[in-house]
Amino acid sequence: MLKSHGCGEIRLSHVGQKVQLAGWVHRRRDHGGVTFIDLRDASGRVQVVIRPGVISNEIESIANIRDEYVLMVVGEVHARLEGSQNTDLSTGDIEIKVEEVVVLNSSETPPFPINQEITITEATRLQYRYLDLRRDRMTSNIRLRHKVIKHIRDFLDGRNFIEIETPVLGLATPEGARDYLVPSRVHPGSFYALPQSPQQWKQLLMVSGFERYFQIVKCYRDEDLRADRQPEFTQLDLEMSFVNESDVMQLNEELIISLLEKYALGYKWNSSFPQMTYATAMEKYGTDRPDLRYGLEINDYSDVFQDSDFKVFSSAIEKGGRIRGIVVPGGAKFSRKTLDHFIDSAREAGAGGLIWIQINGTGLIEEISIDDIKSPAVKFLSVDEVIQLAKIGNASRGDLVILAADTDQITSKVLDLVRRDAASKLELIDSKRLDFVWITEFPLFEWDSDESRWSATHHLFTAPLDGDKKYLDSDPSLVRSRAYDVVCNGQEIGGGSIRIHKREDQLQVLGLLGISEEDADEKFGHMLNAFEFGAPPHGGIAWGMDRTVALLAGEHDIREVIAFPKTKSAVDLVTGAPANVSENQLHDVHISIDSIDEINSANDIMEEI
Ligand code: ASP
Repeated sequence: MLKSHGCGEIRLSHVGQKVQLAGWVHRRRDHGGVTFIDLRDASGRVQVVIRPGVISNEIESIANIRDEYVLMVVGEVHARLEGSQNTDLSTGDIEIKVEEVVVLNSSETPPFPINQEITITEATRLQYRYLDLRRDRMTSNIRLRHKVIKHIRDFLDGRNFIEIETPVLGLATPEGARDYLVPSRVHPGSFYALPQSPQQWKQLLMVSGFERYFQIVKCYRDEDLRADRQPEFTQLDLEMSFVNESDVMQLNEELIISLLEKYALGYKWNSSFPQMTYATAMEKYGTDRPDLRYGLEINDYSDVFQDSDFKVFSSAIEKGGRIRGIVVPGGAKFSRKTLDHFIDSAREAGAGGLIWIQINGTGLIEEISIDDIKSPAVKFLSVDEVIQLAKIGNASRGDLVILAADTDQITSKVLDLVRRDAASKLELIDSKRLDFVWITEFPLFEWDSDESRWSATHHLFTAPLDGDKKYLDSDPSLVRSRAYDVVCNGQEIGGGSIRIHKREDQLQVLGLLGISEEDADEKFGHMLNAFEFGAPPHGGIAWGMDRTVALLAGEHDIREVIAFPKTKSAVDLVTGAPANVSENQLHDVHISIDSIDEINSANDIMEEI
């Protein structure tokens, strides 16, 4: 080793010892001819003091040493003088008086400073990711990721799970996201698909009798990317045999809580996770990913306006819609601008009508007069209606009521937006809370209007609730599934289900999804066959590891916890992938490209991050 200790390891107990250290120049300062360098390595930082006359190789003078040079130093550990200790550094009580410096490598001036938290463009950070990763924030995020993953492995090992690797080159599936395809050289015209998840493999492992499987695994989905999506991402994937929903949920809850106890320092969380059905979540929060750190629940006000002659309300009700809304405490003081903002975002979400009502004045709500009501729809509202509204929503004077009149689908979408917006405007969101909830009983199917057919809400291996099987043939929209999601602060952390484990049940669901028997045999024959050899009842879950680590690291963007993420246009700016390949390589895999213009080189897309 070129070093006797790590820079961050030296303490007062080493005073008087000679040490040899190696690392990067984090920062240098010169004081009356003496050079102070914070030397950084993976273990931390230490101050080294170089006096004039110290020998060094290669460079003529210590003055030439700049930030990010790589040095080896030999010196003695000294206690720092009283008053000159640095409490920010774990090595702040000591310094190294250097006797010898060896420059192991020089460095260009980095494209951004490593020793400061400053705003750097995403493109520069991603292009020089290896330097970005030298910065404290990234270093600690990546170390946290390692610890979290190790913790998960140890926890599951302790519960008799075994980690089993599954193939990366697999079969393309007709359902789900778009696949990343890999052409086969030896089978001209045939393609592997990269796994969107190891779903089928883990179910097959249950048929094999392993009973408890897990894997920290890369998954690939060729989807349009957003801040919280990457074309390749990591899942904690697990599967268990002979279980029902509560067994899977219980185990995962214990795992999450054990992680929080260790790594979510400074946060508060609920000691057991409540369960909420999908229907309740949609009714009260307008989303299946509710943020429960604040109230602002949605209520149904349709009854109040049953006989209203306000067109917006009556026509929504006539069309089978409802009038739903949120009471925003203290919202009577919101400015016109804020209210217009709500209306604009409601329009973007597709709502025809969003009505706001501010209830002003002081005193009992029953005593309001029309003058206390401010609303663009005031001439269509009666005092009595507003009092009824207030009673249902528990509103007082000083509050704001926001109403949306439309189909449930639209009012949910709009009010979810309004709810989140209002919570942040009112500063109701406690950033030090983690509010977990299990969402259950999702619909088994959702109607895909583009393709005019049912598609699976979770995935096509998910079992229906026993009691709802009777609707499979008559009305698939009524069938609830045995799926569950774990949601925290409005984000889905993971999702899973109890699976179908019988061939005829699987065939029935495939049929409802419009997959012909022939296609079923071709694409899912292996699953259908496996189910014929004593497949045990089983179920599992997968968590988004990137999102979980981001949550624990207090980061919003999952790219902050991934060593080498891709841009929003799926480009790797370090290497420039994806890129052209040679004619020969294409020839080998039997692919010809029609128009070279259609191939975007990574450089062209760099702007689009
Ligand atoms: N394979 C599923 C997914 O990737 C998770 C599961 O059902 O276990 O979402």
